[in-house]
Amino acid sequence: MNYRTLGRTGIRVSEVGLGSEAFVNHDDAFAQELFDAALQAGINYFDLYNPEPYIRDSFGKAMEGRREQFVIQAHLCSAWIDGQYKRTRDMEAVREAYDDLFRRLRITYADVGMIHYVDEQTDFDTVFGGEVLAYARELKAEGKIRHIGMSTHNPCVAIQAVKSGEIDVIMLSVNPAYDILPSNEDVNTLFEKETYEMPDVLSCIDPERLELYSLCESEGVALTVMKPYGGGALLDAGESPFGVAMTPAQCLHYCLTRPAVASVLAGAHTKEELLEAAAYSELPDEEKDFATLLGSTPAHRFTDKCMYCGHCAPCTVGIDISAVNKFADLCEAQGMVPETVREHYQVLKVKAGDCVKCGACEKRCPFGVKIVEHMERAKVLFGA
Ligand code: SF4
Ligand code: SF4
Repeated sequence: MNYRTLGRTGIRVSEVGLGSEAFVNHDDAFAQELFDAALQAGINYFDLYNPEPYIRDSFGKAMEGRREQFVIQAHLCSAWIDGQYKRTRDMEAVREAYDDLFRRLRITYADVGMIHYVDEQTDFDTVFGGEVLAYARELKAEGKIRHIGMSTHNPCVAIQAVKSGEIDVIMLSVNPAYDILPSNEDVNTLFEKETYEMPDVLSCIDPERLELYSLCESEGVALTVMKPYGGGALLDAGESPFGVAMTPAQCLHYCLTRPAVASVLAGAHTKEELLEAAAYSELPDEEKDFATLLGSTPAHRFTDKCMYCGHCAPCTVGIDISAVNKFADLCEAQGMVPETVREHYQVLKVKAGDCVKCGACEKRCPFGVKIVEHMERAKVLFGA
């Protein structure tokens, strides 16, 4: 397992984490088994929302006596009301649900208090202008949560959250399909086939997504990822907008090569699926590679947009082309060169300006990136 730093929180987290989907309709023994398997595989990052009470109890029993081995993002504003899991902004319900979550999980603090599911602008205004954020701050001051996070499917809302300076971690839905769609307040559009049939929709990464990645990187806000497989659609050629089936490892690799991403919450439903996801870190590069697949499908028309896949390597003079392109894209998305990105660029041993324009890399790029021009662009941006 590889570990990454969770942005400015400084916490080290496993690049593959575990979500809570698997536990529905299972008992304490199952939770114990899955948590044991996760820890054994090196997973330390766990996303715990507020599912049925018995599941929260199972989590608590499975963590008993070893709390320090878990980095937990625990959701605020998700509650179990009238026998159903619901998002709520009713403060009485929010407080009650969070107290109950802590009681059942048998924990005294969460590493990240994740404000749950903020997709609409009006909801963002309510949450950030009112009692929800005030409550999160209160929990932080009391030491019950170490950092404030927010989960969303909407990059526009996420950008505002980053700019607020209040949020250290954003849980975002990321995968190659969602990355090409414009921001939307309605998460359901991400799942609809018609969305991907609009003209030119497959031709580029959404600029708001790029801006979000860039902002997170420069502000030290970590991204944790949900829906890496697009709800399973990307694993099925018939369902995927690209017309090909990706493997779980390819999906994870796509997410983990996006800027600012610290951990991907694998959508494991069984111990086998969990172990398959955890094994990602040990796989050879060929098995993680998503570029050959996506670059060759007729349904995919990304052109001249670097996907940071590394296929163009090795460069004749040793330039890390993928890193150079990523840094240049981050600057372009913000219309400036953030100091953090400049620093990262300066650390590169070989700079874009060293390119001898041999063109060897361009022949290997599955996405038709005009790399020589991109190196020129980076040289101008960074002055080297
Ligand atoms: S230039 Fe092409 S091959 Fe190289 S990292 Fe970007 S997309 Fe991949
Ligand atoms: S064209 Fe430039 S970046 Fe590409 S392999 Fe040659 S020297 Fe490296």
